[in-house]
Amino acid sequence: DTHAISAGKPLEGIEYQQGTLAGYEARQYLLEKWGRTCAYCGMAGTPLQVEHIHPKARGGSDRIANLTLACRPCNQAKNTTPVEEFLRSKPALLARILKQAKAPLRDATAVNATRWALWRALTATTLPVATGSGGRTKWNRSRTNAPKSHTLDALHVGELAQVTGWPGRVLVIKATGRGLYSRTRTDRYGFPRLRLPRIKHVHGFATGDLVRATLAKGKHAGVHTGRVAVRTTGSFNITTATGTRQGINHKHIRLPQRADGYSYTARQETTNER
Ligand SMILES: [Zn+2]
Repeated sequence: DTHAISAGKPLEGIEYQQGTLAGYEARQYLLEKWGRTCAYCGMAGTPLQVEHIHPKARGGSDRIANLTLACRPCNQAKNTTPVEEFLRSKPALLARILKQAKAPLRDATAVNATRWALWRALTATTLPVATGSGGRTKWNRSRTNAPKSHTLDALHVGELAQVTGWPGRVLVIKATGRGLYSRTRTDRYGFPRLRLPRIKHVHGFATGDLVRATLAKGKHAGVHTGRVAVRTTGSFNITTATGTRQGINHKHIRLPQRADGYSYTARQETTNER
């Protein structure tokens, strides 16, 4: 949120130390702006500290445009030395840093303009509208020690007091459509190859329905839950999580859920460190 971080609020000192959202967002922004490396020596993969380009002790401001990131040795070496003096032997680097510091937040500004136009349009509907930021999501997640996953990211969006837990399994809803209008299949030259039946329902079942088949004996003995593909013969195929069971008689099948254009599956919540 470039409005929040360029409003001229002090970003260091007590507020930053306590890890406020503003400070956290500012740090995320600086990491992006300065390429996650020390501005002075180019070191990556080292802890980086927020650094005043023009030292605070010499009247440098707390505004985001005067902040960069430096590794601890560079930060300590520079201390309150004016940046022009500190980089006297590296004029090209000095010029690059001063230019980068002043670089307008042009891309971010464009995104912001679009974002606020969207927000105004949504607010005009009089529905309650809340906004969040990627920085806030990450900040929330860092407070609850939640691992990184899409599901848990969604759980941490926006203003929240606390997250006390999360499910081990998540419901995955996938749009599958409601079948084809086409009444034929074509071969690779575009000629009709076979006619599809006009009637979609066979013995009350339609392809795509979520069904449960209970078979007492035979090679498919057991309970199978999955998507059914109907055939006019009354002998159906059921695709379960473990594979496709072919030739199951409709008499053994019950219908927990009619196909509604979506598939519903549960899966173990997995995390992927990014
Ligand atoms: Zn350095």
